[in-house]
Parts: sequence; structure tokens; C-alpha cells
Amino acid sequence: MNYHILTLFPEMVKNGLCTSVIGRAVERGIIRINAVNIRDYAKDRHRQVDDYPYGGGAGMVMQPGPVCDSYEDLCRRIGKRPRVIYMTPQGRVFNQSIAEELAKEEDLVFLCGHYEGIDERALSLIATDYLSAGDYVLTGGELPAMVMIDCISRLVPGVLSNNESAEIESFHDNLLEYPQYTRPEEYKGLRVPDVLLSGHHKNIETWRRQESIRRTYERRPDLLDHANLTRKEQEFLETIRSEGKAAAAGV
Ligand code: SAM
Repeated sequence: MNYHILTLFPEMVKNGLCTSVIGRAVERGIIRINAVNIRDYAKDRHRQVDDYPYGGGAGMVMQPGPVCDSYEDLCRRIGKRPRVIYMTPQGRVFNQSIAEELAKEEDLVFLCGHYEGIDERALSLIATDYLSAGDYVLTGGELPAMVMIDCISRLVPGVLSNNESAEIESFHDNLLEYPQYTRPEEYKGLRVPDVLLSGHHKNIETWRRQESIRRTYERRPDLLDHANLTRKEQEFLETIRSEGKAAAAGV
């Protein structure tokens, strides 16, 4: 997977993605991070890339020329025109299923705005997708791009080792992950649930699945509408729901 990040702060992106799991994947050549400095495409001797907004108002707007030129030059160099994802609070909110879809691409361009954003004409010419990190406003698109690159990369074959599988994790199957425990067996009087020490794989699997359902019900009940549950699991969910109602009513 090749990530091309069009940004005014290439060092921020490179430094942010060079450690831990993603850093290792870069070293092994499974993913490539190509941070392109939009400022290198400024035409004037001050290397200016922003200007006042037409119509007045606060802040500065990134000019269309350097943004489009940086993309066109990239396309010439790599010989293709990849999807361009503009990082914007006005976009679709990023989630695991969008990550799964994007992980199938060979090249992705992340376009990071700054100041008041990017001239609309540049976006209409090159942006193919508009994605948001969430319903809040940040100073730039670099952090959202790094979040999305981290998440997508975990789904690229070979990035995670076998014992770091991305398959049974939160949001897989629209359920949150079950609680995890490691040594010691007892910590400050709190014991690891007996079933996890039993060595009985079927019981462990059932317990984990039920705890996933319970946790999702408690923390993100909205996800359960789209979860794929067996009939037995549906019954388990109904039991937790009625326990919850009884507790709320003080029964
Ligand atoms: N004036 C813009 C608006 O109201 O939509 C916000 C501009 S913001 C201060 C500067 C840049 O940060 C944006 O161009 C975008 O690239 C990035 N950004 C800010 N919040 C974001 C979010 N929630 N998700 C993705 N990108 C974001």
C-alpha cells in the first residue's frame, strides 16, 4: 500500500508514522509513506500557499494552484491517478468499514488542509472522497490522515503479525471486543475469570462472545442494530436487556 500525503507539514506526518507497528511495516516495505510538501509547488519567491478569502472573513485559505500542482506532479511520477481523500470536518465520519474498503486500494492520496481550508476549486478538480475524523474541528488534516493511515494499515496483509490479528477486534461484526486479561492471575484482589483459566476452548469462545454482546449493549447499543447474532445470542441479549430494565426499576 502506498500512501501519498499532500501537506504543508510533511515532517509531522513522517515522524508520526515511523514508530511501532506502522514503522515496522514501513521498514519491511509493506507500506510506503510519501509525504509531499505542497509548499514546494508555490510559484512566488516567498513560497506563499495561502491568501485572504474572497468576500472577507477570518483566516486564510490555501490556494488552488500549489494543491493541484502537487497532485498532478505526483500522478506523473507514479503513472496513475489515485483516489484523493480530503480531510475535512464536513466529510463522512471515518469508521472501520470505510477502512476495510480503502485497504483494498494500492495507492491512496490524503489531502490535508490547514487554516480555513482549501480553495473549493482545487477540491472540485481533484478530491474524490471527503472524510472526517469526527464532529469537531482540528487545526489541520495531518492528525486525521495519520489516524486513518494507522487504521487502514492494520488491515493490509502482512502489517500485523499472526498474533496481532485484526479479525476479532472491536467493530468486527459490529460488536465491541470482550475484556482482555494477562498475568498475574490475581491483581489487587481481582481475579481473572475462571473460564479463561479452564483451557476449555468452546466455553472460552462462548464467554468471549457473550461478553462482547454485553459490553456492546452497555457502551455502544447503537451497534447492536447491525450485529450478526445467532438465535441463542439474541436470547442472551434479551436476558441482559431485561436485567438492565429490572435494575433501572430497582427490582
Ligand atoms: N473552515 C473549515 C470548516 O469549517 O469546515 C475548517 C478548517 S480546519 C480549521 C483546517 C483543516 O483541518 C481542514 O481543512 C481539514 O483538512 C482539517 N480538519 C479539521 N477538522 C477535521 C476533522 N474533524 N476531520 C478531518 N479533517 C479535519
